[in-house]
Amino acid sequence: MSKKFETNAIRTQLNRSENLEHSVPMYVTSSFVFEDAEDMRASFAEEKERNVYSRYSNPNSSEFIEKVCQMEGAENGFAFASGMAAVFSTLAALLDSGDHIISSRSIFGSTHSLFNNFFPKWNIDHSYFKSNELESIEELITPKTKILYAETPTNPGVDVLDLEVLGKIAKKHNLILVIDNCFASPYLQQPIKFGADLVIHSGTKLMDGQGRVLAGITVGNKELIDKVYRFSRITGPALSPFNAWVLSKSLETLAVRVDRHCDNALKLAEFLEAHDKVNWVRYPFLKSHPKYEVAKKQMKAGGCVVAFEVKGGLEAGQKFFNSIKLLSLSANLGDSRSIVTHPASTTHSKLSTEERADTGITDGTVRVSVGLEHIDDIIEDIKQALG
Ligand SMILES: *Cc1c(COP(=O)(O)O)cnc(C)c1O
Repeated sequence: MSKKFETNAIRTQLNRSENLEHSVPMYVTSSFVFEDAEDMRASFAEEKERNVYSRYSNPNSSEFIEKVCQMEGAENGFAFASGMAAVFSTLAALLDSGDHIISSRSIFGSTHSLFNNFFPKWNIDHSYFKSNELESIEELITPKTKILYAETPTNPGVDVLDLEVLGKIAKKHNLILVIDNCFASPYLQQPIKFGADLVIHSGTKLMDGQGRVLAGITVGNKELIDKVYRFSRITGPALSPFNAWVLSKSLETLAVRVDRHCDNALKLAEFLEAHDKVNWVRYPFLKSHPKYEVAKKQMKAGGCVVAFEVKGGLEAGQKFFNSIKLLSLSANLGDSRSIVTHPASTTHSKLSTEERADTGITDGTVRVSVGLEHIDDIIEDIKQALG
């Protein structure tokens, strides 16, 4: 455990067969065999820790979980088929009918829909706070409040929430602090250090980093993870062994990839800030970012996402999108390929204009997930599209 982040990401290997393969094998199996009747009984009684059925655990998932736990400084975790499976299963495992959740309003669109449209069916209520008004959180707390939920940096407004402040509020009021750390990746930011109880990731984004597989993971406090595990082994959102194997491999290169994503993103942000057809640019490690100091305190670098507004509103924005040649128009992020999106007409189209404004999205907002192509080519494409 005293080894560095990069070394653990590469050298953590829980499984090796008698063939002594160097690269980890894939355990594409639904179930596992028992030695005899007593072994079977003891395994089902959970008297021994072993694999029984891949809905519960699988060697590839366990290795992926172990790596993320090391990265995040977490005790235990569970791996899911998607980021949303992680969000839903984690919260559903912890919340009871009548409970209340306080959440940042600037959260992933599907998480927003979960709170607004589905949790009320089970009598689970929520209150939102604005990402730049953390001082309003305490006023929202009721005797029923159980969870404080947030993402940072936010999507697509690229706002930054102070994790230390959130950690202190959660501790003072005995709330479970759950942080979706997907935008930062465990390489840039470890929320548990600041008081988070659980950390959620969509592995689909920077963790895989090459736009291949869907995945999710929740790590954190052992007792809470046990509740998440009990719920999930029954309801069945487990990650497939193949995707877990892909993810474990992806994590070996997370540090070098994210370093380059961040270098490219900062260069693009600086280019955009100096461009006369751009109204504003938001990137956590730009000095002009309102939370620059907070970002510096809790993040190693600014991440892969840059948001900006093209001058001329919706019409100019659409013209910009139609002029893009190299970059992809797609909904993913954290991919090796740079991606541009128009949140108002796509990922956040289900929100009202007012809700969009609260999350920092205007009609002309462009979100760029800066990839790993050469920065000169990325800038060249955006420059010609702005022209
Ligand atoms: C993509 C994303 C999710 C959902 O992940 P999926 O793997 O697409 O289900 C959750 N939170 C954030 C911040 C995301 O970007």
